[in-house]
Amino acid sequence: MKELLGKITQRRIIIPLGLFLVVIILLGSIVSCQPKFLMHQMALHNPEVLFYVETDEKVLALTIDDSPNSHLTPAILDLLDKYGIPVTFFIIGQQVPGNEHLLQRMKKSGHELGNHMVTDEPSIMLSHEEFAANLLAVEKLIGPLGEKKWCRPGSGWFNHDMVNNAHELGYRFCLGSLYPFDNKVRNPDLIHLAVMEQMYPGAILILHEGGPQRDYIIPLLDELIPDLISVGYKFMTVSELQELETVKPAEPGKTHP
Ligand SMILES: [Zn+2]
Repeated sequence: MKELLGKITQRRIIIPLGLFLVVIILLGSIVSCQPKFLMHQMALHNPEVLFYVETDEKVLALTIDDSPNSHLTPAILDLLDKYGIPVTFFIIGQQVPGNEHLLQRMKKSGHELGNHMVTDEPSIMLSHEEFAANLLAVEKLIGPLGEKKWCRPGSGWFNHDMVNNAHELGYRFCLGSLYPFDNKVRNPDLIHLAVMEQMYPGAILILHEGGPQRDYIIPLLDELIPDLISVGYKFMTVSELQELETVKPAEPGKTHP
């Protein structure tokens, strides 16, 4: 009897645990693949935010977050020179002091600089005033960027107050559509595989630098860039890619009262 009860309790635990694992794996694969229909829904509900661009042309924007870094950024810039492609760097304000020359080099080489706030913390935790102060502080450091000003909030979470706040200061949010969790995976071969599998025309790819634990980005870029070029992809800055956007974004706040 005791044995039978034991078996039943065991079953009671094993079945829900199995279901739980299946759900976790399913959710995990949806999140890690970010299928295009999901990104399409996100873009539809947030037209004022740029996730990707609808196009048949084989183009993409490579965006690199958490720049600059005295050790990694020069090596990344060397690689981008080697392949002759432009990217968009999202700059963290507190990492700029001492690395100003790297920002100059980015601009000289034709790369674009985006605003990634002062610290690499979830920007959604900032008050309305703090958020604006963060944007303006980094804007001072990255200097005049031309007509387009891109903001990517720390950790990617956002709400409509943030979008409107940024819009009032002349910024548009650029979130991206293809994030291979490079800063979690940290294995250049696995990240390369995921990106090659999931790439599509008009995608905005998100990769990370900013610290020695992200040195995987060097071998990764050295394989990924020529491989994407060899299957016909052309690299653009976010602003160049956005020129291909056919549907004009809605005024922030207008579509989502
Ligand atoms: Zn970041």
